[in-house]
Amino acid sequence: MRFRTRFAPSPTGPLHLGHAYSAILAHDMARAAGGDFLLRIDDIDQSRARPAWEAQIYTDLAWLGLTWDAPPRRQSDHLPAYRAPIDRLGQMGLIYPCRCSRRDIREAANAPQEGGEPLTGPDGLVYPGTCRHRAMAAMGPGDAIRLDMAKAMARHDTTRGFDETGPAHLGHHPIPAAAMIATIGDVVLARPAMGASYHLSVAVDDAAQAITHVIRGQDLFAATPIHVLLQGLLGMPTPQYHHHRLIRDEQGKRLAKRDDARAIHSYRADGAAPQDIRRMVGL
Ligand code: GLU
Repeated sequence: MRFRTRFAPSPTGPLHLGHAYSAILAHDMARAAGGDFLLRIDDIDQSRARPAWEAQIYTDLAWLGLTWDAPPRRQSDHLPAYRAPIDRLGQMGLIYPCRCSRRDIREAANAPQEGGEPLTGPDGLVYPGTCRHRAMAAMGPGDAIRLDMAKAMARHDTTRGFDETGPAHLGHHPIPAAAMIATIGDVVLARPAMGASYHLSVAVDDAAQAITHVIRGQDLFAATPIHVLLQGLLGMPTPQYHHHRLIRDEQGKRLAKRDDARAIHSYRADGAAPQDIRRMVGL
């Protein structure tokens, strides 16, 4: 199968050295394999996405010398594509509407009778299950949609896991039901103002772009089992994964979008060349 990977930035701030590393690595791996490098604009959260940041993404990547092999896929151009998978999970009886605010969840998770520290997973606090009994037919306009993790795992094909080629977790990873339920829990699949959550959209988009290799930061490794579970439930192929090291500042802290000093456009304005950026991220 032809190697096909993607870089999927969210246009919510400037691309920094960490993004440069991720994009160049994916691009170079695709070129070395004689495959495709695609671009996706993860702008499903329209409250945070800005056209100016999207334009800056194209400028920065082109300046770095990267080329992509198809027009970029913008999530906001495909909002109906996220509806059918949600309906399908609904027909399988795996989802429910949730009206809890973040505060409700914090309070329920902290309730003294629960005992111990509330657990935080890749989707935030593990949801305490307050709305789990609610039927989709009773969904209100301000409700989110959650996946019932215990029911979903009961439908999971246990032979489906994922292969990781990144340095920190090299090897095959199964999707263990007990850990998914206890440490990840009922993840959000859709929010009222957003057609789909990150987890649902990444599964749908990777399948729509026929991605064979997902190359992205180590910070997303813990979320990968959620994506693989959704792929299985929705009859989609599971790509290979490569989670790369993160670029950190001198204090060892991960770079963030607000770190404008390390933005690619700032280095460029200071006279850096694309080769300098490659060198700075160790490529
Ligand atoms: N849009 C996500 C981010 O900027 C990356 C999604 C992915 O690579 O799966 O963190």
